[in-house]
Amino acid sequence: MRLLTRKIYRAYPELDKFEDDVCKRYIKRAKRLQNTWKLWLFQLLALLISIVLWGIASSLIELILFFGEATRRDQLVYIMLNPIHLVFKIIQMSGYIFVPAICCLRVRDRWLHRCIRKQLTGVQCGACGYSLLGLSISDENNTPSVHCPECGLQTVLKDMGLTQADINPNLASS
Ligand SMILES: [Zn+2]
Repeated sequence: MRLLTRKIYRAYPELDKFEDDVCKRYIKRAKRLQNTWKLWLFQLLALLISIVLWGIASSLIELILFFGEATRRDQLVYIMLNPIHLVFKIIQMSGYIFVPAICCLRVRDRWLHRCIRKQLTGVQCGACGYSLLGLSISDENNTPSVHCPECGLQTVLKDMGLTQADINPNLASS
């Protein structure tokens, strides 16, 4: 899992030539284009599912480790008398915070990578796949286009459904 401090956009060599704040705006835009509400929906689902699964799994482990054949009344006495069980209870309770948090971060990371990849593959040269990101845009006859330095193909942005902000992240509004 990505550490909280690492910058997710630095995993993409195509974005190496851009400053941090430009990359942040680029990602913000990518998220917006991929409908940010979906991310919230996925995170909510991850939250609910992980809480339920953690509850089931930890209760099962508790049952196997500590109770065996004990009745409900015996179980209460057991919890109060057994310090190891108390430790288990603390781990179980804190798990209700940590497990969903880790799941939500995982979901967010996967989502962000998906958004960035979609943005990056959308600006590849139609002929050779070279990334057109950051190339200079020519504006001949008022039709913005990009010249692929690899194969020489002239790509008219409109034809690919692209805007100038797709090619030049510096133009993306925050
Ligand atoms: Zn090309």
